[in-house]
Amino acid sequence: MIDITSGQFIIGWIIFAVVICPLQFVVAAPYGRHTSSKWGPLVNSKLGWVVMELVSLVAFGYAFWSAGSWSQVSLILAALFAAHYVHRSLIYPFMTRTGKKRMPLLIVLFAIGFNVVNGYINGDFLGAHGELYPTEYLTRWNSIAGLILFFVGAAINVWSDYYLISLRKTTEPGVYVIPSKGPFRWLSSPNLVGEMIEWIGFAVLCWSLPALAFAVWTITNLAPRAWHHHKWYRKQFPDYPTDRKVFIPGVV
Ligand code: NDP
Repeated sequence: MIDITSGQFIIGWIIFAVVICPLQFVVAAPYGRHTSSKWGPLVNSKLGWVVMELVSLVAFGYAFWSAGSWSQVSLILAALFAAHYVHRSLIYPFMTRTGKKRMPLLIVLFAIGFNVVNGYINGDFLGAHGELYPTEYLTRWNSIAGLILFFVGAAINVWSDYYLISLRKTTEPGVYVIPSKGPFRWLSSPNLVGEMIEWIGFAVLCWSLPALAFAVWTITNLAPRAWHHHKWYRKQFPDYPTDRKVFIPGVV
């Protein structure tokens, strides 16, 4: 049987993410505004989000508790991961105004695979290596830098997601408008950029191969999606601001 927590597997897992990334620039993952019925059976979007994100929390929690060698600090790191996924799986999907929108079952299955592996390897590492995270760990440079990146990224992500959701208050589900407030003045999808910053921060904070793998998977998923969203806005809205960028304000 394959040991998915071994260093060899995780390095292969990182390489796999990098290898399939260019494909995601060619084909936009078909959910949200890019959803399509060409990808087989469809399921309700909200249900899809709950299932595909909840498995990460379950895999992470199971691996963490069953490893049984955590410290107070690794428990704090685990709580950060868990807090993100409680929000993403049990709160966020019910706040979206997507009506009866559907997404391909295939996307849900892909996301389950991605989330189970990333959740499990991160839970196992934090649960099994409490000795790497003594109390003074939180005063190290990487902990401080990682925590700042994690919280700044999470704040940008959550604010931007709820701002986008609020745009639907006065419109029908499925209708899109040009976002204009906060970081949307500079970037097309600050919610996605915020999520990338958040998990880069988590990788710097944990300083582990599994956390690096999760950051790489997040970037290789969300960078192409942010790029497709940007192209979509420009095509959809002739008056879309020309100075808005994809990744770094004013640069690219
Ligand atoms: P989107 O920006 O595509 O959509 C977010 C929500 O806002 C959806 O409900 C969407 O509706 C709505 N919306 C988006 N743009 C507009 C607009 N211009 N006008 C009105 N409503 C709008 O985000 P994603 O669906 O791609 O991702 C949602 C969250 O999940 C993000 O925080 C993202 O970072 C995270 N995520 C994380 C991943 C990871 O690998 N860690 C992978 C995928 C997502 P609709 O669905 O109808 O388009």
